[in-house]
Amino acid sequence: QQAKAQAAKLEDAKLIGITIDKHLDFPGWYSQVLTKGEMLEYYDVSGCYIMRPASYSIWETIQDYFNVRIKKLGVKNTYFPMFVSSRVLEKEKDHIEGFAPEVAWVTRAGSSELEEPIAIRPTSETVMYPYYAKWIRSYRDLPLKLNQWNSVVRWEFKHPQPFLRTREFLWQEGHTAHLTFDSANEEVLTILDYYAGIYEELLAVPVIKGKKTEKEKFAGGLFTTTCESFIPATGRGIQGATSHCLGQNFSKMFGIQVEDPSGSDKPKLYVWQNSWGLSTRVIGVMVMIHSDNKGLVLPPRVASTQVVIIPVGITSKTTKEEENAILDGAKKIESELLKAGILATGDYRDNYSPGWKFSNWELKGVPIRLEFGPKDLKKNSVVAVRRDTSAKSFINIDDLETKIPDLLNTIQQDLYDRAKAKFDSHRIICDKWDDFIKALESQNLILAPWCGVMECEEDIKDSSARKSEEDEGVEHDDKAPSMGAKSLCIPFDQPELKEGQKCVRCGKLAVNYTMFGRSY
Ligand code: AMP
Ligand code: ZN
Repeated sequence: QQAKAQAAKLEDAKLIGITIDKHLDFPGWYSQVLTKGEMLEYYDVSGCYIMRPASYSIWETIQDYFNVRIKKLGVKNTYFPMFVSSRVLEKEKDHIEGFAPEVAWVTRAGSSELEEPIAIRPTSETVMYPYYAKWIRSYRDLPLKLNQWNSVVRWEFKHPQPFLRTREFLWQEGHTAHLTFDSANEEVLTILDYYAGIYEELLAVPVIKGKKTEKEKFAGGLFTTTCESFIPATGRGIQGATSHCLGQNFSKMFGIQVEDPSGSDKPKLYVWQNSWGLSTRVIGVMVMIHSDNKGLVLPPRVASTQVVIIPVGITSKTTKEEENAILDGAKKIESELLKAGILATGDYRDNYSPGWKFSNWELKGVPIRLEFGPKDLKKNSVVAVRRDTSAKSFINIDDLETKIPDLLNTIQQDLYDRAKAKFDSHRIICDKWDDFIKALESQNLILAPWCGVMECEEDIKDSSARKSEEDEGVEHDDKAPSMGAKSLCIPFDQPELKEGQKCVRCGKLAVNYTMFGRSY
């Protein structure tokens, strides 16, 4: 009888768990991890998803981290409308050319057609800059630094992916105006460092910082800096976040001008502008990198629950007195941890077995599980199990206050180190085209000497696309098998270019090492 009950419980645990292997069907696995981990729910408008509290709380942690830093730079938060008239949206030609295919339009209100369709912002340069022209009257009004936490809509036709590519997404967009190029340039790089910090310090995700090529830069901008990440399971790169120097293109279009501080007889100066954005995509990248076949694995610094305490070893033979002592002990551990500032919770539900609870909290990615039972009670200790490695250790109850924070730090660092080791070993320097293709086919990103010519970049993409039919079905998501290698960035940290080094593709003189790869 008891054996049967035990078997049924195990079945239950399996049902709530992940049933798709990360390495056999990555998109299927990703979708299960997100929904079963209660991060996300699918929605009946394609490309839109519900962010549940488990993922929204991560976004809030990111907001806190970023707000503190940008406010020190003098950035103020603000809110502009989501609608933009076509007249204003189309003011900067290159900009709208880049975004036009993805802009969603409101054409009707109730049953009446609008006289003039109104666009929903795909980004807010054109929404905000007419007002920058109004508010910036003098060089004394500079720098003007505004940021908004909002959502934007890009009606993407590429395969949607939860968090990574959605039609509406949450992000922050910073928009600043400066008197000089130097001031703008410095800020672009400072913000990029904050973005790298969000990935590396909070999400334990290593990134490569660099500059986008002319082909890949932000439409209408002067140059784009980016941090790029890597998804080992698919061998694809992903753009992490971008910080753009817009130069003076927009200020010329929108007439954002000030007097030259060195003399009113001098011609007026156009301001230098930046815009920078980081979206909820970061959450998807984090999940794809760290999570496993048991579900989510959350880095301690963004986990809304860092430690779960589960009473164990209570059987039909346990006396009521002993059971109470175990429950009281577990609750005391919980309150001690909370007092020490650790996000702890106890799972005292009596309608689930410990095994079921283990699986349930593993799905949610809680970094540490503490098991407390009769033996632990006697020894005044507790069993700690790491979510990321399943490694077990005993911790004396009196040491929890120091040992748990230590263990959380170790987990955070180990997650980063493991991801970094994988990224490093999958970023291959290739000087020859044959090696480039081989490395690409083995799911690597490539650092190659490159000439910097746009036609060559297009040729690299076309020539590296897999065309043979036998390769089809290697990957199940979108059109990955035939996708060519894009330029991801020109890393700031450059391998040394040998004198006379030729471009990996066209044989012209190389001007730098550029990172290429299949990407999301
Ligand atoms: P952009 O304004 O195009 O430079 O985008 C800023 C950042 O938003 C990018 O670096 C991406 O990380 C992110 N992003 C762009 N498009 C999407 C999308 N459809 N869904 C989620 N994040 C996106
Ligand atoms: Zn070339």
